[in-house]
Amino acid sequence: MPQYSPPLRDMQFVMHEVLKVTDELKPIAKYADADAETMNAILEEGGKFASEVVLPLNISGDEEGCTLDPVTHAVTTPKGFKEAYKKYVEGGWPALSGDTDFGGQGLPLVVNQCFYEMLNSANQAWTMYPGLTHGAHAALHAHGTDEQKKTYLQKMTTGEWTGTMCLTEPHCGTDLGLMRTKAEPQPDGTYKITGNKIFISAGEHDMADNIIHLVLARITDAPPGIKGVSLFIVPKFMVKPDGTPGERNGIYCGGLEHKMGIHGNATAQIVIDGAIGTLVGQPNKGMQGMFVMMNAARLGVGNQSLGLTEVAYQNALAYAKDRIQMRSLSGVKAKDKPADPIIVHPDVRKMLLTAKAYAEGGRALAIYCAVLLDKEHYHPDEKVRKDSGEVLSLLTPIVKAFLTDNGHIATNACMQVFGGHGFIKEWGMEQFVRDNRINMIYEGTNTIQSLDLLGRKVLGNNGATLKKFGKIIGALIAEEGVNEKMAEFINPLAVLAEQMTKFTTELGFKGFQNPDEVGAAAVDYLRVAGHLVFGYFWARMAQVALREIAAGNADPFYLAKLQTARFYFAKLFPETATLMRTARSGSKVLMDTDAALA
Ligand SMILES: Cc1cc2nc3c(=O)[nH]c(=O)nc-3n(C[C@H](O)[C@H](O)[C@H](O)COP(=O)(O)OP(=O)(O)OC[C@H]3O[C@@H](n4cnc5c(N)ncnc54)[C@H](O)[C@@H]3O)c2cc1C
Repeated sequence: MPQYSPPLRDMQFVMHEVLKVTDELKPIAKYADADAETMNAILEEGGKFASEVVLPLNISGDEEGCTLDPVTHAVTTPKGFKEAYKKYVEGGWPALSGDTDFGGQGLPLVVNQCFYEMLNSANQAWTMYPGLTHGAHAALHAHGTDEQKKTYLQKMTTGEWTGTMCLTEPHCGTDLGLMRTKAEPQPDGTYKITGNKIFISAGEHDMADNIIHLVLARITDAPPGIKGVSLFIVPKFMVKPDGTPGERNGIYCGGLEHKMGIHGNATAQIVIDGAIGTLVGQPNKGMQGMFVMMNAARLGVGNQSLGLTEVAYQNALAYAKDRIQMRSLSGVKAKDKPADPIIVHPDVRKMLLTAKAYAEGGRALAIYCAVLLDKEHYHPDEKVRKDSGEVLSLLTPIVKAFLTDNGHIATNACMQVFGGHGFIKEWGMEQFVRDNRINMIYEGTNTIQSLDLLGRKVLGNNGATLKKFGKIIGALIAEEGVNEKMAEFINPLAVLAEQMTKFTTELGFKGFQNPDEVGAAAVDYLRVAGHLVFGYFWARMAQVALREIAAGNADPFYLAKLQTARFYFAKLFPETATLMRTARSGSKVLMDTDAALA
C-alpha cells in the first residue's frame, strides 16, 4: 500500500513564512484571532484523519468500486467509505471553514484548503463525496433565498447532507446552452423538473441522509441557449417542516459509469422524473449561481491533482532510495551493495524533482488562492475585495489546468521511477495516474480553461487583470533585483514577465484578426502563464530559504527548498520558450489541414 506522510512542514512554511496568512487575514474581523498554532494543530489532526482513516480505503475502494441496485436505485459505496464518512462528520471536519451562522467553525479557508489537499492525497474518490458539498454550499450561500439557506445550509455545513452539481447531459458537456432538462412552473411556486443528466459525481450513495442536487434546467418557454438556463435545488428527499428528510423526490440513479479511475466515487446517470425543485436566483440566470459552484470546484480539482502529485512523489522518493539497479555513471556510490540505489541516476532525480517542484509550487499557489477567496468575500476594504476577486478569477483556470496537467506529468514520472513495478497494481502508482486523468477533463476541460484564461480573463479586459498580477511580480523583482543571491531566480522571472506582455499583445492582435488564433494558442499560453505564476512563488520561497540560511538556520528544509527552486528554474521553467514558439506558429498549420484530417 502507498505510504503518505502529511506535508505539514511545507504547509506551515507556505502559510506562515512565505505568505504570512494570519497577517493577511488580520483585517478581517472574524479572523482577527486566527493564529498559526491553532491552524497547525488542526492540520496535524487533519493529517492523521487523512492518513489513518481515508488512505487505507484507497486501493480497496479502487478495486471494489460502487454498485447499483437496479430495483431500488440505491448505490452502495466501497466497504469502509460510509464508516469513514461518519467519522468525518462526527469529527466536525466538514464544518472547518463553514459559516458560523450555519453551524460552521469559521476558520480561514486556507485551513480547509490544506486539509483537503491531504484528503486528496489519501483518497481522491472518497474525498469527492464531501468535496462537492462545499461548492454547492457556496452557491446556495451566495444565491439562495433565506428559506433555502435555512432548509439546507446547516445540514450541508455539518456534512449530514452532501451536494452535487448536475450540469452534463448526454449531448452536452462543454456547451451547456444545448441543455434539454425542463422545469415546469407549478402553482405553489416550485418547479417540476424532468430530464437526464450523466456523469454526476457522488450523484447517489449511502454515506449521507440526503443528497442536495444543484440542477441546471430550462424553464418552459425560456430563450434558447445559455441565456435560458436556470438553477434549481432538487433534494433526493423532500425536507419536512421539522427539517428532517421526508418523501422521496423523483430524482434517482439510472446507472453507474464504468471508468478509468476514481472507481470509489459513484459517477451517476441521474434520471429526473418530475422531481420537485425550487429556483435558485433569477429565472434564466442559472449560470450566475452555478459559476460560484464551478469556480469552487475548479480550485478543488486543482487541489485533487496537487494531492496526487504529493503522494506519488513521496512513494517514488522512498522507492528510489531503496531500489538498487546499475552503478552510478560517476562511480560506485553504495560500496556495500551489488548495485547503487536508483536515486543516484540523473534522470531518476529529474523525475523526482519534477514531482516535488510541481507539488510545492502548486501548494503555494493553492494556499495563496484560498487567502484571496477569503479577502474577496470578507476584507473590510472594498478595493482589496475587488482586486482579490479579480486576481483570483485570473488564477482559477491556471489552478485548474496547470495543476492537473502537472499532476499528469508528475504521477506518470513517479510511476516511471518504479519501472515495471509502477505499471502493475501492487504498489498503487498506476492508480494515481488513472485517478488524476479525469482532473484534466471534468469541470471544464483544460482546453476550455485555457480559452477562459486567454479569451475572457486576459484579452477580454485588455490585459488589465494580468497587469494587476504583473504588478505583484514587479514588486518582488524591484525588492530583490539588486540581490545577487536571488539573481538566478529573479532574472528569468523578470525576463518572462516582460516577454509575457509582448506575447499577450501579439496574440491579442492576431486574435482580433482571426479568432482561431486564440484557440490555437490558448493551451500553450496557459502553460506559460502557469510558469510565470509558479516562477513568482518559487522565487518567493527561495527568498525565504536564502534569508534563513544567511541567518544561520541549519534546518535542512531550507537547503532542500533552495535546491528545488534551482531545479525548477533550470529544468522546468525554460519550457516557456518552446511554448511561446509553438503558440506563435499560429492557427494556419492547424486549420489548413482538411486533407490531413480527411
Ligand atoms: C468521471 C466524471 C465525473 C464527472 N462529474 C461531473 C459532475 O459531477 N457534474 C457534471 O455536471 N458533469 C460531470 N462530468 C462531466 C464533465 O464535466 C464533462 O465530461 C466535461 O465538461 C466535458 O464535456 P463532454 O464530455 O461532453 O465533452 P465535449 O464537450 O463533447 O468535448 C469533447 C472535446 O471537445 C473539446 N471542445 C469542446 N468545445 C470546444 C471549444 N469551444 N474549443 C476547443 N475545444 C472544445 C473539449 O475540450 C473536449 O476535448 C464528469 C465527467 C466524468 C467523466
